[in-house]
Amino acid sequence: MAGPKALVAGNWKMNGLTAELKEVRLLADMLKGVRLACDVMVCPPATLIRPVVQLLSNSRIKVGGQDCHAAAAGAFTGEISAEMLDDAGCTAVIVGHSARRTRHCETDAMVKGKAEAARRAGLTAIICIGETLEERESGRTLEVVSRQLAGSLPAGFASDDTVIAYEPVWAIGTGRTPTRDQVEEVHRHIRRDLIEKAGEEQGTGIRVLYGGSVKPDNAAELLDADNVDGALVGGASLKAADFIGIIKAYA
Ligand code: PEP
Repeated sequence: MAGPKALVAGNWKMNGLTAELKEVRLLADMLKGVRLACDVMVCPPATLIRPVVQLLSNSRIKVGGQDCHAAAAGAFTGEISAEMLDDAGCTAVIVGHSARRTRHCETDAMVKGKAEAARRAGLTAIICIGETLEERESGRTLEVVSRQLAGSLPAGFASDDTVIAYEPVWAIGTGRTPTRDQVEEVHRHIRRDLIEKAGEEQGTGIRVLYGGSVKPDNAAELLDADNVDGALVGGASLKAADFIGIIKAYA
């Protein structure tokens, strides 16, 4: 049975000034007329969401946020709610990125609250999970991703509102990647967990992305692995030429 339609999403992290909008323009131009078997999304910093949404209004490229607060509104200085992202034109939001889990001490319960907020606002939650190097080296990878998955998934999650991104922490921004066999082992495990929790139809329909140092030269091999339904791309999503090199794994 064919898997879900793939998604290639670019996470710009805290990068991008107005000048970088030219990369978005370039990406949209490069994708014109290209037949793609995947969806494409960019997740710019909050300051650029509006202009990016406007620039991409006539393209197939979707826009997502990088994080959201669990509440819809309130006295939370500096935070952005899922409703605000929806209002700005986003269709999705990344939650539980390892940078948030480690540097902002986000727990699985907090990530779950954010994923619930995304559902409430009608956004797709891209829920990130993944082991640290120490956890991998001590043989706990599968146990860690199962625990994060169980703790971060909102009740009633479904294939049209939830995407999982498996991102080994040690592969993010390091240039190191797991072998294809290692990727397949974890993705198979995640798929089994999803089926167990949501049933066969929903569990097989949920996209499970791989993320961590995906580049144009390793994309074809990593994205062709079993149960890999696309990529969450950091550094290589900042330049249109690199990002399109990854997207073309699905051309
Ligand atoms: C990320 O931050 O989600 C990521 C995958 O980064 P990179 O591609 O740069 O490793």
